[in-house]
Amino acid sequence: MCVTDPDKGNEGISAIFIDLDSPGVTLDTACVPITGQYVDADIILDNVRVPRCNCIGGEGNGFRLAMNRISLNRLLHCPTMIGLARQALRLSIDYANTRRQFGGPIMRFQAIQHMLADMASSLFACESMVLAAARRADAGSDVRMEASMCKLFVSEACFQIADKAVQIHGNVGVTKNHPVEFIFRRLRLYRIVTGTSEIQRNTIAKEILQRHGS
Ligand SMILES: Cc1cc2nc3c(=O)[nH]c(=O)nc-3n(C[C@H](O)[C@H](O)[C@H](O)COP(=O)(O)OP(=O)(O)OC[C@H]3O[C@@H](n4cnc5c(N)ncnc54)[C@H](O)[C@@H]3O)c2cc1C
Repeated sequence: MCVTDPDKGNEGISAIFIDLDSPGVTLDTACVPITGQYVDADIILDNVRVPRCNCIGGEGNGFRLAMNRISLNRLLHCPTMIGLARQALRLSIDYANTRRQFGGPIMRFQAIQHMLADMASSLFACESMVLAAARRADAGSDVRMEASMCKLFVSEACFQIADKAVQIHGNVGVTKNHPVEFIFRRLRLYRIVTGTSEIQRNTIAKEILQRHGS
């Protein structure tokens, strides 16, 4: 994405396809996310030349293209978060059944049971919400607000689920590269990626103001 006309605001942004093997393109992967996965890079362009036909959707349409895509993108991150949270719950149930303290499995403690109950309830809310939004998207509705609601709620709720999973696992849960510790770090990223929780709230609030503001 680049500014092709600084005087036109959003209409002055264009999307240009650049082959990463082109002369002048380098990737800087020095910035590694907390998961340790190399999914992130700064793309450095130094006098890179591309044919005019690489401008996607025509000059000045880049911002519109990105915004049209971003709602779906936000929604599509949700199943990944839910899958990670589901795994955290499953691991926590297994651990609570097998870890013994004070003469029996920790599963018999109500404090542990309540954490599992909260995790399962949040997971159900996340799954139901995302399915409802996906149905609306499939039916052709504009789901900009719903996608932001899902991204906001699911990323925050799934992170809370991971946090409880770490708690249930005790010392094991804060051991580097234990599956639960890894899920915790991965889910933390999702409150940032594709727009932070604050930006999702801005989008939702903007929609509310448009519909109901005075
Ligand atoms: C692992 C990973 C993968 C990523 N992958 C991609 C990708 O594939 N494609 C891509 O385009 N981007 C990607 N990103 C970038 C990601 O979308 C941005 O990091 C994110 O949108 C936040 O932008 P920023 O880092 O510039 O934070 P900033 O915008 O600098 O935000 C800093 C803080 O200020 C707050 N803030 C900023 N503006 C406002 C506002 N208007 N109102 C209230 N609060 C505000 C933010 O919520 C945050 O708390 C990725 C990031 C990570 C960590």
